Amino acid sequence: MARFEEKRCGCGFPVARRTSWTHDNPGRKFVACKFFNHETGQRGCNTFEWVDEEILDWQRDGTNVLIAEKHRLSTDLSILRTRLACTEHEKGHLASELNMLKNRKNRAEIGLMEEENSRNKLLVTCVIVSVVVSFCIVKLFG
Ligand SMILES: [Zn+2]
Repeated sequence: MARFEEKRCGCGFPVARRTSWTHDNPGRKFVACKFFNHETGQRGCNTFEWVDEEILDWQRDGTNVLIAEKHRLSTDLSILRTRLACTEHEKGHLASELNMLKNRKNRAEIGLMEEENSRNKLLVTCVIVSVVVSFCIVKLFG
């Protein structure tokens, strides 16, 4: 491997070590001109050399299946992350709604207790008044 690190391309720069992720050569290591760019198709001075041995068909197929699987899993992962973020948001919304409902329930209970208290006072007053009235009637006409 040391011999590749010392190697220079036609431009005079040390060669760049890269990994191919093409369908035909997935995972294969190579050295190339530092201006080599698979994305743009730029090849610099055209210096290019495979570092490892050629892969067998079953290795190529297996690697491509794994790469496709990796893409599928990372898509699934980002969908799940989005769903999780939505769920967290919904959870926060439901928690504040629950708090609001609890407050409303507490206020309603307090209102009911106050209503019951005033009803009891009214009942006691009615009883006292009817006792007094009955007493007076008995005293006057009895
Ligand atoms: Zn070069």
